[in-house]
Amino acid sequence: MPRKILVTSALPYANGSIHLGHLVEYIQTDIWARFQKMRGNTCFYCCADDTHGTPIMLRAEKEGITPEQLIDRTWHEHKRDFDGFHIDFDNYYSTNTPETRHYADTIYTRLKQAGLIEIRSIEQFYDPVKEMFLPDRFIKGECPKCHAKDQYGDNCEACGAAYQPTDLIEPYSAVSGAKPVRKESDHHFFKLSDPRCADFLKQWTADPAHVQAEAANKLGEWLQAGLSDWDISRDAPYFGFEIPGDDGKPTGKYYYVWLDAPIGYMGSFQNLCDKTGLDFNEFWKPDSDAELYHFIGKDILYFHALFWPAELAHAGFRTPTGVFCHGFLTVNGLKMSKSRGTFITAESYLNHLNPEWLRYYYAAKLNGSMEDIDLNLEDFAARVNSDLVGKYVNIASRCAGFISKRFSGKLGAVDMNATTEFSQAYADGAIANSYEERDFGRALREIMRLADVANQYIAERKPWEMAKQEGREAELLEVCSTAMTQFRDLTLYLKPVLPKLAEQVEAFLNIPPLTWTDIWTPLPAGHAINEYQHLMTRIDPKKIEIMVEENKQSLAPVPEVAAPAPIKHAEHQQSEAKAEAAASDEKSMWEPFISIDDFTKVDLRIARIANAEHVEGADKLLKLTLDLGGETRTVFAGIKAAYAPETLIGRLTVMVANLAPRKMKFGMSEGMVCAASDERGGPFLLSPDSGAQPGMRIK
Ligand SMILES: [Zn+2]
Repeated sequence: MPRKILVTSALPYANGSIHLGHLVEYIQTDIWARFQKMRGNTCFYCCADDTHGTPIMLRAEKEGITPEQLIDRTWHEHKRDFDGFHIDFDNYYSTNTPETRHYADTIYTRLKQAGLIEIRSIEQFYDPVKEMFLPDRFIKGECPKCHAKDQYGDNCEACGAAYQPTDLIEPYSAVSGAKPVRKESDHHFFKLSDPRCADFLKQWTADPAHVQAEAANKLGEWLQAGLSDWDISRDAPYFGFEIPGDDGKPTGKYYYVWLDAPIGYMGSFQNLCDKTGLDFNEFWKPDSDAELYHFIGKDILYFHALFWPAELAHAGFRTPTGVFCHGFLTVNGLKMSKSRGTFITAESYLNHLNPEWLRYYYAAKLNGSMEDIDLNLEDFAARVNSDLVGKYVNIASRCAGFISKRFSGKLGAVDMNATTEFSQAYADGAIANSYEERDFGRALREIMRLADVANQYIAERKPWEMAKQEGREAELLEVCSTAMTQFRDLTLYLKPVLPKLAEQVEAFLNIPPLTWTDIWTPLPAGHAINEYQHLMTRIDPKKIEIMVEENKQSLAPVPEVAAPAPIKHAEHQQSEAKAEAAASDEKSMWEPFISIDDFTKVDLRIARIANAEHVEGADKLLKLTLDLGGETRTVFAGIKAAYAPETLIGRLTVMVANLAPRKMKFGMSEGMVCAASDERGGPFLLSPDSGAQPGMRIK
């Protein structure tokens, strides 16, 4: 029986461009949905732009257009970028729609009937000039801890402290500059602290099918700490849906953007149902036999694994089958940065590079966990060139020509002995299971192993030699036909990742769109294929350089209101999410900068390790005697785990020569040696190039 699956990605906020960080999620979800469809399952991939909230309202105002005009323009930009990366949504919609309003009202009303909505008066900062309540990120002032100026209302970028906006010294409104006043207002709260919600969530999050183990741990901590009620309303002026009053009268209160964002999944699906005749309830009723999966980033776990299932469960809808959480993107091991040119927009990538290269690279890095993934630009080019061009496409380009030229494009019988590895791989299901478990990296490793098998077969049989020898036509046809079936099978396995390339291959092989079960039948003898056309070029690293250069922007601060997505996230009241939102800000990670004078205060010298020995009773330390060219120093260094003392004697390294001597348990330490390390390993001691002499200064 085919499964019925509804899958979503988190809704991008309609206030900024799609960038390579966003694409980790859309590419991942798209691969998974395409895989399900190829397997013969009924699968719908729905998404939408997330369009409400203060940042949208203020941005539109600043541009002198209506919020509706702003979100319409952004929708078209987002859709263009997603199409460019072959993200094949079954429906891409908006939250500012009647369908989403309908489900927001339905959920709100049912929660209220269940006694899970409470109205409470709270005191908040209010901008008396702009006449609006101010979200945390729109209040700035002096950090109460380190006294840095112009810090946000939720945390300090200078010292990292998290606090309440009311803690700020000399607060001012980032919208008008006015001094905010404190003002009371009624807010609607979803009573997450109600035992019904807490008990339900404890059970729901404990089921390993619902969330990954790492996510379950995080959720467990939050549940342990106790859930606060969630403030789901905002005061006018606000761009969003007004909350209906009991008597149908306007309330002047609006649903907080984070309430209606996930409801946008329902709105988008309802819209799809209306267009195609699908039954909404079949997918959303409490006892539905359909599966519902949400792909999300780790920064919005709280919303999707606590708020969202609790809302659904108490409003008479089904809860998600699974919430799949992933990590963030780093580029060359560092946070994406505008100054380094690694804050790369989808649009700019597409101007220079092939989208399927990135799809392949991300897939190779994804393993279904919450770890961050790194786009190392050098490795990116190397991996794509070696795997896709060197291994995969190479199979077709080496053999197809003979079939066209020597056999009028008609295939012969396949050498079944040469395909055993392929049928075994299919039988053990490793590739399908890896895709299903979102361990795309493992799937691709297995596929590339099969590509190696095919290349080895061709290398051993040498069709190019057969072609030069009389009477070996039959052999030549067999080898090339076998290679074509192997190539077809590899294409089939790669199709969820490389849909466009697979289409080209289907046209070249003259076959209908590949489905998973095609693997059972080799391309038949007598089948005519088309002439081979070039399928994929190598990545030219120069193009990557040009793209990075294009994305480099000045270090001038981005205007407050125009800042992208993080603002919305930062409205969320959990300090966890605040920290994540701050982490995705685009200020250079190297700030504050130091002057050359600061640097020259550190006296770095070349030192020769004259002696190295274990220290009795110390687990981590080695005792080093360093020769500075006439003077010797004793330094205790925490490198015992990485180096045996005898391997160090005689080598040159770098030491901080003017570090104040420090008395340690084992004796006086008169300086420090320099070593590199991070989560990838270390410590690795530094060494100078040959020619450097003990005592030379580093400058
Ligand atoms: Zn501070």
